[in-house]
Amino acid sequence: METEVFDSALISYLAGPLIAWFEVNARVLPWRSTSEKKVSPYGIWVSEIMLQQTRVEAVKGYYARFLRALPDMQALAGVQEDKLLKLWEGLGYYSRARNLQKAAKTVAAQYGGELPADYKALKSLPGIGPYTAGAVASLAFRIPVPAVDGNVLRVISRILDSHLDISLPETKAAVEDMLSQVMSGGPAHDRPDLFNQALMELGAVVCIPNGAPQCFLCPVREFCLGYQHGTAEDLPVKAPKKPRRVEERTVLLLRWGKTTALRKRPGKGLLAGMWELPNIEGFYSAGELENCLQIPKGCIRSIRPLGEARHIFTHIQWEMQGFEVDLSDGCVLNCLGALVWESPAVIRKSYPLPSALKAYSKLI
Ligand code: SF4
Repeated sequence: METEVFDSALISYLAGPLIAWFEVNARVLPWRSTSEKKVSPYGIWVSEIMLQQTRVEAVKGYYARFLRALPDMQALAGVQEDKLLKLWEGLGYYSRARNLQKAAKTVAAQYGGELPADYKALKSLPGIGPYTAGAVASLAFRIPVPAVDGNVLRVISRILDSHLDISLPETKAAVEDMLSQVMSGGPAHDRPDLFNQALMELGAVVCIPNGAPQCFLCPVREFCLGYQHGTAEDLPVKAPKKPRRVEERTVLLLRWGKTTALRKRPGKGLLAGMWELPNIEGFYSAGELENCLQIPKGCIRSIRPLGEARHIFTHIQWEMQGFEVDLSDGCVLNCLGALVWESPAVIRKSYPLPSALKAYSKLI
């Protein structure tokens, strides 16, 4: 490993200017403390979990709604799962919501309902990895520990002109070690909350991804090795991801009178525990559906195609086609698992539906 890449001297030198830049340029965000408003550790934690895999603009509305409904640890620990998932509906990666609640229960049982001001204890909670533990520890409790995510890896790679692959765990570990050293003294030690946020903010608004750093706006341009060497746009180095697995699914909007059928997904795996429109693997024509679903003759009053849709998860891609199927009274469907039949108003109010099926569920 190129040891000079992880030399902490330059980053230590830049800590003060980065903090000064952040204090003037920080975006006002609902989960950020200001001189007038102090955000609780609970609020900071919820925001950090929501911001994993989700853009700031998309999180704002969810964050406000979530904190209104569940203002503290006790409320989160005690909320019913369907209500929790309904609050999360559309944000995706629903295991985040479940882990939030598991962690809230642990915090209620073991820490008197207050998040522990301790990096290791935070990291041991469900859904909290090294990045989130570092972010909560430094932002909420001013503990001098790094919080290294993709933004920070990109900024550090460019400033230090590092060509190490940031998708490798050893690269991330080395950056964490280097930043721990930076945070052992000086301005980054005194204000770890500002230092970590300055790195994240620089990555979010100036040193942005996809080969487009806005170096002309950058407070550390003069010292940035990637800028000086003309390599910044090609950094960071990142191994290409494996291609996603493609799954074909036929999605059914089953109508029976004024009600629509929903089904609960299994408690483990993709979209665990969410409600969904019944769907089956593979593509079928309207004619094939009757056989494939083993629907008794005369049960189907009409079938109408609803077109195609696509949803992309991290590792899987769903290619979907949908049908609206109007069923006669007394028709029993045996091969789609346990179905519940509800009115559109009840579904909208009480059932958390994943955005993966939005193209069809919006027609409910
Ligand atoms: Fe990123 Fe450019 Fe600033 Fe370097 S000078 S940290 S490449 S924005």
